[in-house]
Amino acid sequence: MALIVQKYGGTSVGSPERIAAVAEKVMGYRQRGDDVVVVVSAMSGETDRLIKLAKAICTNPDPRELDVLLATGEQATIALLCMAMNDRGCPARSYTGQQVQILTDSAFNKARIQDIEGARVRKDLSEGKVVVVAGFQGVDELGNITTLGRGGSDTTAVALAAALKADECQIYTDVDGVYTTDPRVVPNARRLDRITFEEMLEMASQGSKVLQIRSVEFAGKYNVPLRVLHSFQEGAGTLITYEDESMENPLISGIAFNRDEAKITVLGVPDQPGVAARVLGPVADANIEVDMIVQNISPAGDTTDFTFTVHRNDYDKAMSIIQAVAKDLGAREVSGDNKIVKISLVGVGMRSHAGIASTMFKALANEGINIRMISTSEIKVSVVVDEKYLELGVRALHDVFQLDKAS
Ligand code: ASP
Ligand code: MG
Repeated sequence: MALIVQKYGGTSVGSPERIAAVAEKVMGYRQRGDDVVVVVSAMSGETDRLIKLAKAICTNPDPRELDVLLATGEQATIALLCMAMNDRGCPARSYTGQQVQILTDSAFNKARIQDIEGARVRKDLSEGKVVVVAGFQGVDELGNITTLGRGGSDTTAVALAAALKADECQIYTDVDGVYTTDPRVVPNARRLDRITFEEMLEMASQGSKVLQIRSVEFAGKYNVPLRVLHSFQEGAGTLITYEDESMENPLISGIAFNRDEAKITVLGVPDQPGVAARVLGPVADANIEVDMIVQNISPAGDTTDFTFTVHRNDYDKAMSIIQAVAKDLGAREVSGDNKIVKISLVGVGMRSHAGIASTMFKALANEGINIRMISTSEIKVSVVVDEKYLELGVRALHDVFQLDKAS
């Protein structure tokens, strides 16, 4: 007998029929003898509808009141799901975030969970009930309702699993797991049986939007095994867990990519201590996130060049900041390109293997793809290429590392 926390997203509870199907699925686990805590999102489209409603009342809704409003979406689903289970003879009880004391800070609309009082949940479980908790919401120490940011139900589920020391946290969604890359780009992309927290963070932060990133960080921190599964198809899904030292790790687990990149280059900056801070400081001060940074020394050695990447939405703003900085510093020239993308190979197996990067570069060269920037970490090699090469590049890499075959 296991204790399982299951989270069902908006599309999985998007209609009365789907809520009924979720009820039956949960009851299947109960019948096998497992204790089940269910976390649900609002019915699909509901949170968007509530936000629109608020904006129809005023352009800048008060954040506290917005949370009071948004929390109603999940409150409706917990009640409906419990009705469905009770009606089928399975005792179930619903709780809002406030009722089970999901304590958060007071940052309305993006609150962070600080503590969970699990006693009430444990008592119900010991009485044979299924406990259904509203995702995405909590309460601060003053009793105000808070919400955790879009997609926050994933984090509720993981936090509950950590607090209750659950055996597994299962995230049911509309895909059947985490793939080697986006199947819309590579049709023979393969579902991964397992992936490490670290790899998942790299994959997620670069566009594989299966899970809220914060929930993966949370799961890694508290060592909660996380499983992504399809709500209405059978299958083992993908287990996200710690690196298993006893297992041979695949060299590459997946290919992440990011379409929304832009790069800016400053040429001929006088090479003196402090120039990097003077170039990039104002960009950071403007709250623009910088991803890759490359610095080069000129042949004469008296000037240096910088190239860095930012999100495409920040390109114009970053460009005007850099133009002003370049003038101040007496730099020779500023140039930029907002038609670039980043492609990354991700795999913990890279730690113990050399030659990954050169295989990658050769594969891209064979397709005539010019690499504009390179950066590496222990478990990742990223390249920046022209936007038009994204699909070709990802497919070439998927092929050369044979990611369609289980290793
Ligand atoms: N209902 C919230 C949202 O749409 C939270 C969630 O679905 O996880 O963002
Ligand atoms: Mg969601």
